[in-house]
Amino acid sequence: MTTTPKRILLLGATGSIGTQTLDVLNAHPDEFTLIGISAGHAREKLEEIAAKFSTVQAVGLSALEHDETIAGIPWYGGEDQMVRMVRELDYDLLVNAVVGFRGLAPTLAALERDKDVALANKESLVCGGELVNAALAKTDAVLRPIDSEHSAIWQCLQGNDRNDIRRLIITASGGSLRDLSRDELADITPQRALRHPSWSMGARITIDSATMVNKGFEVIEAHYLFNLPYDQISTVLHAQSIVHSMVEYNDNAIMAQLGSADMRLPIQYALFGPARPYLHEDKPLDMTKTLTLDFKEMDHERFPMLGAAIKAGKRRGNAGCIFNAADEQAVELFLKEKISFLQIEEAILDALESIPFIEHPTLDDLLETDRMTREHVRVRYL
Ligand code: MG
Repeated sequence: MTTTPKRILLLGATGSIGTQTLDVLNAHPDEFTLIGISAGHAREKLEEIAAKFSTVQAVGLSALEHDETIAGIPWYGGEDQMVRMVRELDYDLLVNAVVGFRGLAPTLAALERDKDVALANKESLVCGGELVNAALAKTDAVLRPIDSEHSAIWQCLQGNDRNDIRRLIITASGGSLRDLSRDELADITPQRALRHPSWSMGARITIDSATMVNKGFEVIEAHYLFNLPYDQISTVLHAQSIVHSMVEYNDNAIMAQLGSADMRLPIQYALFGPARPYLHEDKPLDMTKTLTLDFKEMDHERFPMLGAAIKAGKRRGNAGCIFNAADEQAVELFLKEKISFLQIEEAILDALESIPFIEHPTLDDLLETDRMTREHVRVRYL
């Protein structure tokens, strides 16, 4: 059977998820055609990708001052390049692998054009969940989660009735500093915090895992993706990162998705699901070997940012946007060794107290909240 390949626009093409998305696309040239790629600064990497995938018709680079034609291909430049590509190009699926708040506007722009979005950008939902929901209500387009926990939940929902869900159980590895007490966190260096025990990920998400901010964001993300109240979304510590998340049903059955810590599976499932084509994996999970699975109750005192993020999510309005902006800015300062690890938490809590709350923000309100919050954090610490 031959079908027309799905046309893919990939934002965040040079990051960790973007690079692994290219791996998956490269393995399935008959099913997918990469038509556009975009990144913030990594010009050379974009040139390499455009040379490798001859189907690429447009490239976006925020760091490029003006639109240009390079090697016969139009390049979109400037901060608005992603939204312009999303609005102007012909594609079937947007893969949003952008890191951070800047990923929200392209998600909204794609939904406004009735385009499906494979979403790795959790900030779209953390910062703009209400706007994304409103956009989804006006279209048949859907979000296809790439985040490994949400992909696992999505897989565990297949063939079951949503009304029978008791709760979602999101697993958390505990991050790179999980064996340290809070007292021991005071003088942690970026190099130490970046050593994640099970996942190889981008810098920001690795730090967000260590603070448990990431898990808080994932609870908010699950709330919007699966349209469930917060009291039906729980978290559990699971050091091995083998069970990627679970769904518990009313008959007490718990469905879990297990696998090695390889993001290409959730990426591939977002592209193909519910189909499951072959995926080459160097270390597939081997059930003939002894497998240890530990689960521990979440420790909210050790990881106060989890509860703080969920609280911001429940507050709605621009609270998630404030939380995220403070975190993005504080993590950047921590990575540059301008602030300590625990000051990331302090910066977030301070911003939530200081930045004005808006109950029903527009996208422009959120852009202003993001700008104002980052500045507030910078002024406080620099
Ligand atoms: Mg995740």
